[in-house]
Amino acid sequence: MATGSTEHNDSNEHNPSDEHRHPKEHSYSNEHKYEFLLRILQDAGDLRECSKLVLIDLCFQMPALRSLLLLRDPGYKVFAKMTQGQEVVIHEPMLETHDDFDLEISFIDRAYQSKTTLIDEQPQFKKHLWDDEQGYNIWRLAIPIQRGPMVYGVLYAECQKDPHQHPWLSSESFRFVISHLSGEVANHALTRQIDNEKKTREKTEQELLHASKITDLYLKQIIALQEISHRFARGASEQEVCRIAVTQVLQHLDIDRIAVFLINQQNGKLYGTWGTSDDGEACDESDFISDIPDHPMVHQALARQDFVVINDHAVLYYYKKPVGTGWNAMVSMWDGEKAIGWIACDNLISREPMKPYQKEILKLLGATLGEVLIRTRTEAELKKLNQELERRVTQRTAQLQALNNKLAQANHQLARISKEDSLTGLANRRIFDDSLQREWYRAKRYNKPLSLMMIDIDYFKNYNDELGHMAGDRCLKKVADILASVPKRSTDEVARYGGEEFVLLLPGTNEQQALELANSIQHKMAEENIAHPASKVAKHISLSIGICCMTPDAESAPEELLLIADDALYQAKSNGRNQVCCLKSSFDHDLSR
Ligand code: GH3
Ligand code: MG
Ligand code: MG
Repeated sequence: MATGSTEHNDSNEHNPSDEHRHPKEHSYSNEHKYEFLLRILQDAGDLRECSKLVLIDLCFQMPALRSLLLLRDPGYKVFAKMTQGQEVVIHEPMLETHDDFDLEISFIDRAYQSKTTLIDEQPQFKKHLWDDEQGYNIWRLAIPIQRGPMVYGVLYAECQKDPHQHPWLSSESFRFVISHLSGEVANHALTRQIDNEKKTREKTEQELLHASKITDLYLKQIIALQEISHRFARGASEQEVCRIAVTQVLQHLDIDRIAVFLINQQNGKLYGTWGTSDDGEACDESDFISDIPDHPMVHQALARQDFVVINDHAVLYYYKKPVGTGWNAMVSMWDGEKAIGWIACDNLISREPMKPYQKEILKLLGATLGEVLIRTRTEAELKKLNQELERRVTQRTAQLQALNNKLAQANHQLARISKEDSLTGLANRRIFDDSLQREWYRAKRYNKPLSLMMIDIDYFKNYNDELGHMAGDRCLKKVADILASVPKRSTDEVARYGGEEFVLLLPGTNEQQALELANSIQHKMAEENIAHPASKVAKHISLSIGICCMTPDAESAPEELLLIADDALYQAKSNGRNQVCCLKSSFDHDLSR
């Protein structure tokens, strides 16, 4: 144990690794050597160096001693081991105690639990560190490595001599060495704990970062989905809605391919709308019609609302042709309890794995698109109904219009009939009565003369009797035409007064002018020469005419004009017929005559 001491007088030349390899070249025979050990221990950078020095030193002090530094982690594990070749091997990570030796852990644990150094002798010891010592009496030594109340491990050693005899074990220096080792072990444990916590923190930070990235992406996708759903809600038809949905999803959502299929409720068939080609382009698939596929994914998708079916390893199709493999997801769309179709998506182009939030995005997409499609469908039906209603209203309006036209015609006819005398086409008696009242008051207001002529066909009864009633009618018509044709003012009015009697109302016409007109009528009648074989005054139809002219005033009334004209007619008849007679009113104040 004294060899090599001179080589290590100068601590600056000390090389611990040399010592590890050749421990037997060194020995410490007195206290100043320990001081040297303590110094190099203090210089030792870490637990590795420290435990190497301690184990080697122990070996120097107590020949044939083999040792282990066992640490709790949480069971006993080997940190440092003195090999049979007297080299110290550090195990990082630490070695399981059962890996290459068979220790009596209960002995070690006793020292650990009691926090006291244990020494015992095992005659013919079977369990030991090295095979070559089998059968010898072995002394075992277990020193707890402790700092304050904490015990971190045990320094275990075996040797062939009684350690009690050895002064080193009871020396101050040895206690200091163990205390130093304990300090290093405590440091090491602390460092490991800090390292572990740091690693845990870093891992947590990374997980948080990852989670926040995912949340960020999810949020962005939700916002994108919200924007595109506004866009596809503007589609005018189901096909248009699906076209916008597919193109927008391909542009703004993290989805390689998407297709929308709708189920026809009447025939139960599946109809394509818009989909994505195998090179990622949106395409019209409205020509796709098939039965609903008998496929487990389809069954699952149609069995539940608000549910995304995913097949991670699916054969992917374009129309009915397989184009690759990847994940395939389906989400159905509903109208109440009725599935109206589904959305299918996959990752054919990028082969990117499905992201955790994509399932939620697909659920939202399915719900939104389904809702928009139902609304579009309802609006289309409403539009159709409105168009039908509009068509019916137009038709009905046209019918009503035609009816109104007929009614207007009928009314016009009725108005004409109510004003006209049907045989002669002249104004009738009712119109004449109205005109008389109106013109009377107008003449009164403007202080103008108003003349009335009463005309009667002479011996007309005889005419009828002689030539028949039909001929009489024809004759009446001819006389009416002659009366209508004589030149007169626009305000003058000819009317059939009744039977074979006519009246001529002449506003603004004085007696003289009326007389002239009556004479011209008589003249015309003679000219016309309508044969009257039964007349007693002429060979042709002749007229008797009574005239009265008045300028209405406060005292007079239209009936007076009528009565006097009738009197004048009576006078003309009495005087021999075929003549004109004019009578004046007893209240006549007309100064213009
Ligand atoms: P007078 O010279 O005094 O006026 O004799 P008159 O025969 O003309 O008069 P009367 O009052 O005796 O007879 C009038 C006749 O006119 C009787 C009737 O047959 C005929 N008459 C009245 N209205 C119509 C008609 O619408 N058609 C035809 N054909 N005859 C009519
Ligand atoms: Mg008459
Ligand atoms: Mg007559």
